[in-house]
Amino acid sequence: MTPPLGAATRDRLRIAIQKSGRLAEPARKLLAACGLSWRESRDKLFCYGESLPVDLLLVRDDDIPGLIADGVCDLGVVGRNELDEQAGARAQIGLPQAYRELRALGFGQCRLMLAVPEDWEWTGPEQLRGKGLRIATSYPSILVGWLQEQQIDAQVVELSGSVEIAPRLGTAELICDLVSSGATLKANQLKPVETLLESEAVLAGPAGGFDDARAALAQMLLRRMDGVLQVRERKLLMFNADRDALPALERLLADAGPLVQLPSVNGSLALQAMCEGAVSWQQLEELERAGARQLMVLGVERSLA
Ligand code: ATP
Ligand code: ZN
Repeated sequence: MTPPLGAATRDRLRIAIQKSGRLAEPARKLLAACGLSWRESRDKLFCYGESLPVDLLLVRDDDIPGLIADGVCDLGVVGRNELDEQAGARAQIGLPQAYRELRALGFGQCRLMLAVPEDWEWTGPEQLRGKGLRIATSYPSILVGWLQEQQIDAQVVELSGSVEIAPRLGTAELICDLVSSGATLKANQLKPVETLLESEAVLAGPAGGFDDARAALAQMLLRRMDGVLQVRERKLLMFNADRDALPALERLLADAGPLVQLPSVNGSLALQAMCEGAVSWQQLEELERAGARQLMVLGVERSLA
C-alpha cells in the first residue's frame, strides 16, 4: 500500500524520478548502482525500497521541484533546466528558495539555446534590441532573466511544447529551447546562436537539510553516489611486459595514473594503470607495439575513498 504522501517527518527517504522519458532509465541505473532496489507497485507511482528505506516516486519531470518544495519528496533527479526555471519562477513572485542542486549527474546533457531562422545573419544579442521581437519558449523565467541581463526588450511567448514550430506558425520570430544534437532545429530551418544554460540531470534536495532519520540516509546515498560518479569514466588497464619495455610503456601512459607493478609472473612484469577516460583500440595497439601483452581493460564499478 502506498503510504500517505507529504508527511513532514519520516524515517524513510523518498526520491522522485521521471516516470518515463530521457532521464527515467539513467536515473534508475544510477540509484541501482548505489545499492538501492525496489518492489515495483502496480500503480507504478510509488516503488517501495527493499534494500534500504529509500522509496521512489515516479512522476513527470516538471513536478519534481514542486514535490521537493512541498516536502512530498526529499530528493529528486531532474534536469537543471527544470530546476532553474522553477527556482526563477518562485523568485519572481517572492517565494523563498526551496531546493538546491546537490550533485551534477553526468547524463541528460543539453543546452538551453536561443535559435533564429537559418537565413538570419547573427552578429550578437544586441541585434535583438528595439525590434519588438517575439521569442517562443517553455523556459520563460530563465529567458526573461537573460533578456534583462542583455538589456533586450523582446516579448516572451510561453509555449508548453513544440516550441520549434513557432516561427513557421508565425507566433514568434525566434525561439529559446533545449538543444542536444541540433537536428530538431535544423529540421525546422533554425540555427542555435546563444547558450543561456548548460544543463544536465542533477540530484536536487531541499534548501534546508533534514532533521530526522532521513539525514543519515541522504548522507549515505550521497557518499555512494560520489563513489559511482567518480569512477564512472575510469578504466583499469592490465597487461604483462618485459622489463626493458617499461620506459616506452610509461611514456605512452604518461596521462594515466602511475604504472603499478604487481608481483611478476614467469619473469615478465604484471602491470596496471588507472585511466580517467575510455581506452581506445588505437591506444591498445600502440601499447602492444611497445611490448605490452595480454592487455585487458576493466570498467570500475564503485569506489569508497
Ligand atoms: P515528462 O513527461 O516527464 O514531462 P518531458 O517530455 O518533459 O517528460 P523529456 O523530453 O524526457 O521530458 O526530457 C527530460 C529532460 O531531459 C529535460 O528536461 C532535459 O533536462 C533533458 N534533455 C536532454 N536532451 C534533451 C533534448 N534534446 N530535448 C529535451 N530535453 C532534453
Ligand atoms: Zn516535462
